[in-house]
Amino acid sequence: MGDEALVSGVSPSRVAALMAAEQVRFRKSHILSGELFAAGQQNWLYGAPSHWMRRWIGGWPLYLKEEARDYGVRFADVDGNEFVDFCLGDTGGMCGHGHPAIVEALARQARIGTSLMLPTADAQWVGEELVRRFGLPYWNLTTSASDANRACIRLSRMITGRPRVLVFSGCYHGSVEEAHVELVDGRVQMRNGLHPNAFPHEQLSRVIEFNDEAALEAALRPGDVACVLAEPAMTNYAMIPPRPGFLDALRRLTRETGTVLIIDETHTISSGPDGYARLHGLQPDMLVIGKAIAGGVPAAAFGLNRETTERVWQALPVVAPTVRQSAHAGFGGTLAGNALTVAAMRAVLSEVLTDSAFERMILLAGRMAGHIQAGIAHRALPWHAMQLGARVETLFMARVPRNADEVRRARNPALEALLHLYLMNRGVLITPFHNMMLCCPGTREEDVDRHNAVFDEWLAELCA
Ligand code: PMP
Repeated sequence: MGDEALVSGVSPSRVAALMAAEQVRFRKSHILSGELFAAGQQNWLYGAPSHWMRRWIGGWPLYLKEEARDYGVRFADVDGNEFVDFCLGDTGGMCGHGHPAIVEALARQARIGTSLMLPTADAQWVGEELVRRFGLPYWNLTTSASDANRACIRLSRMITGRPRVLVFSGCYHGSVEEAHVELVDGRVQMRNGLHPNAFPHEQLSRVIEFNDEAALEAALRPGDVACVLAEPAMTNYAMIPPRPGFLDALRRLTRETGTVLIIDETHTISSGPDGYARLHGLQPDMLVIGKAIAGGVPAAAFGLNRETTERVWQALPVVAPTVRQSAHAGFGGTLAGNALTVAAMRAVLSEVLTDSAFERMILLAGRMAGHIQAGIAHRALPWHAMQLGARVETLFMARVPRNADEVRRARNPALEALLHLYLMNRGVLITPFHNMMLCCPGTREEDVDRHNAVFDEWLAELCA
């Protein structure tokens, strides 16, 4: 191993040897989960109810043991292994598991009725709270963030009469056709080799690198872009923060060119109780918030500023309820805004994702990021830890990336996979697609310390 070239500061053969050992360990300690997954091949298209669920690096997903616990982030699998959850359903579980206020709200509303196509008094409270938190005056609920993004795109095209949607390479906004593109070596291609689905991406999408103001200006100047759909800090390729001034340029250029700015806060809500945009003074035309907002019950919301709302009302007038009309508006689903989700949202916004909860969550995330950073510095590894409020990511690259291209060039998938499996084999669960960890109101100091201890153990073995 003496002459071996290091990759990301570590020996590739060491990474491969540790990975092989971790895979054996996983197979031995997750036998019942493995059997359930094998049985699932008989009826599920991808072995489990959703294709996401098979993306865990051990070879099969953990099957959850059905046992109620006190509120928090701990759970057990069917093989009896105990876990501390920092994946939190890739943000869907950002309220933690089993919060009493959410449990109570769901049970109460389920007894009254879950889905009636009627608003409840809770809805009025939720509407007012969305306005107060996010600073946009008009809102609409959907069943998922994907749905909300698609609705915002539809409305943007409707009010601008323009065809294209601009996204940043490396983005993810859910099942949104326009956003399934990326730039590789300057060329546009389908993300992950996705089938284009007969969608004319070359006519309807435009994709540029994040933090590239010149490219943004060039992309918007022709005047054919209906909207920019963006996370204010990218979280789905690796954590890529905006460079100073970039979001100002994004706001200025979209205004100058009459392009709708849609900010997707589905993940960046980790920044604080009212999201990244509010915290940093960015004023979007539309804002999407999903996943966490109903405590993991499928729900999302999109908000519009006053000017955009008026343009929407002009194009799609508000008709008096007494006029019998077709219900088709082209967005929203039957279950959108149903009584169950709204009850959960009220509990989340009033009792779970509160200001004081965020203060604690952000402190805990800081404890984690600080520990990772100290370990990296101690061993002089060319890595860094990134924190976005309650969210932390370990990146195996020396510099904070500016865009997806820099991440693609520096990324070390073998090392990422090893960290996942090593942590999972020792009861620490992180997001399967990248090294992302989220703290929630139910996370405790000892949960973070559990991660930190296993991370140290891993570093010691990796660098031995
Ligand atoms: N927007 C962002 C920023 C996301 O990260 C995701 C999911 N990872 C979505 C939208 C889509 O959310 P959903 O799958 O709940 O529709």
